[in-house]
Amino acid sequence: MPTRRLYYDDAFLREFSAEALRCEPARHDDAATWRVVLDQTAFYPDSGGQPSDTGLLGEARVLEVSDAGDEVVHLLDRPVPLGPIRGQVDWPRRFDHMQQHTGQHLLSAIFHERYSLPTVSFHLGGELSTIDLRGQEPTEALLEEAERAANAIIFESRPVRVRYGTAEELDKLGVRKKVEREGKLRALEIEGVDLQPCGGTHVASTGQIGLLLLRRVAKIRQDWRVEFVCGERARRAARALSERLAEAEARLLAEDTPPRPGGLRIVSRVLPDASADYLGLLATALAKHDKTIALLASGGYLVYAQHESAAQDMNQLLRDTLQTLGGKGGGQRNFARGRLHDPGHSEQAVTFAKERCS
Ligand SMILES: [Zn+2]
Repeated sequence: MPTRRLYYDDAFLREFSAEALRCEPARHDDAATWRVVLDQTAFYPDSGGQPSDTGLLGEARVLEVSDAGDEVVHLLDRPVPLGPIRGQVDWPRRFDHMQQHTGQHLLSAIFHERYSLPTVSFHLGGELSTIDLRGQEPTEALLEEAERAANAIIFESRPVRVRYGTAEELDKLGVRKKVEREGKLRALEIEGVDLQPCGGTHVASTGQIGLLLLRRVAKIRQDWRVEFVCGERARRAARALSERLAEAEARLLAEDTPPRPGGLRIVSRVLPDASADYLGLLATALAKHDKTIALLASGGYLVYAQHESAAQDMNQLLRDTLQTLGGKGGGQRNFARGRLHDPGHSEQAVTFAKERCS
């Protein structure tokens, strides 16, 4: 009996009821496992470039899900009784896959429509996702433009929906890839951007992709493999980049600042373009250097930080500064942050603090 695939019509279904029809022992990576078939399932099996879901089925952990003809097979870490059972999809993992996968549709559509670079394959990995493009080499400028175009559509939060139709019907609607198959086909539509046959799971609007970043391009045989990340993965990647940038800038600033007699190195700077977050990262990176103090300001934000061996009290120094110039904040002996009432006092604040360090 074919398994009813609940994720086809509701990709946001996280919990469901089903009947366990079969439960057979299996071997998997030398561990005892069980193969279970249900009458219906919300678990997505590994297919079409999107990895399978994991989660819980009754008391058992779902390790892997695969397609076996019309059936969906759930690989479990223990047997379950036949009959009624509840399933629960590992939602953060699935939602992440939906974000990467919908991002892939969007990116492939942009490369195809604007630059005549069709996608010949797609892979969604645990860390990075890739599409392989066929055609001329994508230049830096082209990649930057494609990334900007993708994010512009994400910010417009366009509807993403599933459409059913015969190959002929979808063709009339302008489907990107023609499929030679009888009967009803499933296709994914990003309004005004893409229509593509697909059996995977997707978010409900482009806004839910969050953010899309292109990472790098490599030549793989005759194709161009483009790495990208979406959603939470993009946020993490952006944060990691800021940290690397802060580490590099901290090294330069430390090298540029000669130590005082006695060895204390005081890096005091107003960085007009830095965000409060970046200021914190930079101060943290500077404070990793021996006998170094960072006194940083940007737009009224202040961050004072020191390496333990500098042996000052950053919290006290910040409080003295704020008491003199007006503002709020606090912290610990090695790290303190605050905000001036008047951002125009930034320069005065770091000068004041520098003079007090001994
Ligand atoms: Zn898809």
